[in-house]
Amino acid sequence: MHIPPRVLTVAGSDSGGGAGIQADLKTMLALGTHGMSVLTAVTAQNSLGVQGAWELPAEAVRAQFRSVVDDIGVEAVKTGMLSSAELVETVAELLVGVPAPVVVDPVGVSKHGDPLLAASALDAVRGKLLPTATVATPNLDEVAQLTGVQVRDEAGMRRAADAVLEFGPRWALIKGGHLTAGAGAVDLLTDGTEEHWLRAPRYDNRHTHGTGCTLASALAAQLAKGDTVVRAAAAAKEYVTGALAAGFRLGAGIGPVDHGW
Ligand code: PLP
Repeated sequence: MHIPPRVLTVAGSDSGGGAGIQADLKTMLALGTHGMSVLTAVTAQNSLGVQGAWELPAEAVRAQFRSVVDDIGVEAVKTGMLSSAELVETVAELLVGVPAPVVVDPVGVSKHGDPLLAASALDAVRGKLLPTATVATPNLDEVAQLTGVQVRDEAGMRRAADAVLEFGPRWALIKGGHLTAGAGAVDLLTDGTEEHWLRAPRYDNRHTHGTGCTLASALAAQLAKGDTVVRAAAAAKEYVTGALAAGFRLGAGIGPVDHGW
């Protein structure tokens, strides 16, 4: 009997199905793993933005996590929207006891500018969550929010990675997709000694909702399947590039990336 590797996402729900838990589970299935979810918050969301967000109590997050880990087990964990300092601290404490790689996507603000993390939670992300990460996957806005480093070019991405690594993740994957200079979409993966530049073509497609969630989930799925961090990051970049190229219109605003490409 084939038993797929088990991957857990700890993240928020996107009612529009483009990002968050929904993107995570689609990615995990597409990559041949069994996805499981610990819900942290529910958003009322569509292609135009986030119309409302409601956090779950820390007790509900803890209970979901224990239910999954104590019976089913996990081969990798991914965290996304954690909403508040209390939930960041709760999740960080839960992760400390888990003997599996952890991908931390330090979700801050949506592409529409809607806050998905309270400003008061940043210290807990820096001091408690990032130290639990095997790989942290901030975009350039999240880098600026967490470290104060403003990135304008690839040299800046190196400085950003150093600053993120100071908080304790084993690896930093700095996503340079928001850089406008240069034709491609370049990410930097480094543990402070090795440096890997992941390059892909830039697609002129406005339907990019869910890219960050998708990349982090693909990375977690590949780690669950036994890839090294370097191979998992390359495979995740390839997956998200395909999903981005196939992003489609849904609603009147920004559509989602496509997992069936
Ligand atoms: N909604 C939820 C629940 C998310 O977790 C995220 C990103 O992590 C987003 C929305 C934002 O998605 P995007 O910035 O790709 O539009």
